[in-house]
Amino acid sequence: MQSNIQKFTSEVFGEVRDHIDDDDKLTERFVLSGQVRSVIINSETHLSSHFVLGEFTRSKYPEVYNIPNHQAIAHLKNLCRWLEVLREWAAQPIVINSGYRSPQLNKRVGGAPTSNHLTGCAADIRTSGMEQAITYAAILLAYARESQQEFDELLIEKNRYGAVWLHFAVRPSTPSASPGNASPSTPSASPKNRHKVAFIQA
Ligand SMILES: [Zn+2]
Repeated sequence: MQSNIQKFTSEVFGEVRDHIDDDDKLTERFVLSGQVRSVIINSETHLSSHFVLGEFTRSKYPEVYNIPNHQAIAHLKNLCRWLEVLREWAAQPIVINSGYRSPQLNKRVGGAPTSNHLTGCAADIRTSGMEQAITYAAILLAYARESQQEFDELLIEKNRYGAVWLHFAVRPSTPSASPGNASPSTPSASPKNRHKVAFIQA
């Protein structure tokens, strides 16, 4: 199972301590002389029935630290609820090009400084081309309408080499979503879902 484990031993020890969640068995840390020396992540841990954590943490730069904290993992799980619907309605496996990005990784890939990828709220979904991207977008829009849930971004993106993907982001729902919680007028800790739909030529 070695291949399922991403191991980080880089220069980020100071940060690592805050990224650990010991309870959910997603990560394990190694401590030497009171300092965290490395951290591993169990890439095979399920976020939903068909999606595993490793699909949302891998990148072209395996040497760059990219372990989501507890909150980002919760956001990824929330996102996966939508991706499960997309998978079912599209009747196809959904391939993730990029999910969570640590600040280091986001910088390396040239992501926007306020990117939803930084909080685990976004995923770039691979498509075979424009037609599939539009199909996927239509499914997500239909599901949003039907379920009366909101999303933050639904962007069809195309780069200069002609590759097309769908950037989809869902931020945590407002307090009204959790029964017994504060009233809807209570300010939310994170910005609201903006329902941004666009085509972007990168
Ligand atoms: Zn994206």
